[in-house]
Amino acid sequence: MPVIRECYAALPETPVYPTEQGGRTHNKILMGTWAGVVEDNGGERVKVSTAGRDGWVYRDALKDQMDLKVFFVDVGQGDGLLLESPGLRMLVDGGPNQQLLRYLKGYQYRYLLGNPGFIQFDLMVVSHFDADHYKGLTAVLNDPLCRVDSLIHNGIARFSTRRASRPAGHDTDLGQRRDDHLVTSFSDIDDARALLAGGGLQRTFEQFLRAAVNAHSEGRLGAMRRVDHRTGRLLQQQGLSVDILGPVTEDIAGSTGFRWLGGSSHTRNGHSVVLRVDYKRPATQGHTLLLGGDLNHEAQTLLMAHYHPDNPFRVDVCKACHHGSADFSVGFLQQVLPYATVISSGDNESYAHPRAEALGCAGRYSRGEQPLVFSTELARSVSSGGDVLYGMINCRSDGRTLMFSQMKERNSGADIWDSYVVQRQD
Ligand SMILES: [Zn+2]
Repeated sequence: MPVIRECYAALPETPVYPTEQGGRTHNKILMGTWAGVVEDNGGERVKVSTAGRDGWVYRDALKDQMDLKVFFVDVGQGDGLLLESPGLRMLVDGGPNQQLLRYLKGYQYRYLLGNPGFIQFDLMVVSHFDADHYKGLTAVLNDPLCRVDSLIHNGIARFSTRRASRPAGHDTDLGQRRDDHLVTSFSDIDDARALLAGGGLQRTFEQFLRAAVNAHSEGRLGAMRRVDHRTGRLLQQQGLSVDILGPVTEDIAGSTGFRWLGGSSHTRNGHSVVLRVDYKRPATQGHTLLLGGDLNHEAQTLLMAHYHPDNPFRVDVCKACHHGSADFSVGFLQQVLPYATVISSGDNESYAHPRAEALGCAGRYSRGEQPLVFSTELARSVSSGGDVLYGMINCRSDGRTLMFSQMKERNSGADIWDSYVVQRQD
């Protein structure tokens, strides 16, 4: 049946009934889920095509606007996130594998593959070049069905760990170091081409750059560039704004410098791109989200000092930095003080993520009587055969209601969601 009207679910869990008269609920769709009206007889319910089983929904349980949807996709040990808001599709990191791409093509945007025949993303963000954050994005860039308008990253490249293999002057595997700073000039597609020509790159990073350059040549990638705290507001549209809070860089003799944070791994993690997302503020109270890649203790201290006495880190929802590692600053958590924290991490890894003190502090340094701490590892189902719908943490906001949901490991009929509505207390 053709869709008469595009609508979206308005209730945290909107019931879908088998007949126009009602009957026993046979599906529930989360707030903001697309529901295309296919039959409207003027009654109190209309028939919709939607996620899961189609059926009849109360007319007043539907709305015209999609609002904000954040999907923390379970990519195992890594981060992979999809953010949708009216007129915007954005990926922030892509995990170490093809899980994100599987989700995008197999579920979320399967309907686009027939018509128009491709999936368009407005923005792709690489928080930093560690495989658990960007290797899955190489798969997206290599996929002929995916297009990306703009790709942003932190500008810290990866070179061979063997000094003899690296280009001249590259005294670390992240590039040139001057005193206690790493300096870089890596930003756009031309820089990517130059890096590929210069050789000596770390293999996974080389594959990513090649994918970006190829996608650009084939017209599937618009622009690529480095961002930092000076970028400020990255975009603003239809109630949503994205600001770049980090990395904080310095001008070192005409080059961009990153404070050396004690080691290669600490330096590249600590200078992750830090995004703050604001939705429908201040029109309604709105909601805010902080995504900080793999920030560590030193980096959080540096960020707080840079912004002092301001605190742009206070948000409603926070992705736990570095998969729930123990390398965090309590002072930073006290500044963020979210209602809900989402931890993205894997099983069968040697880091023991999420660490017990990270879980404890996520709860302790939160707002509200009943703070929420979500974990992709807890949401995952071992019996689902790796189905990417399990393990995903869904976050939705219409500017007034902020909700989270994860799929139950076992459903009974239409009762498939484990949902939470945040009670605002400020
Ligand atoms: Zn990581």
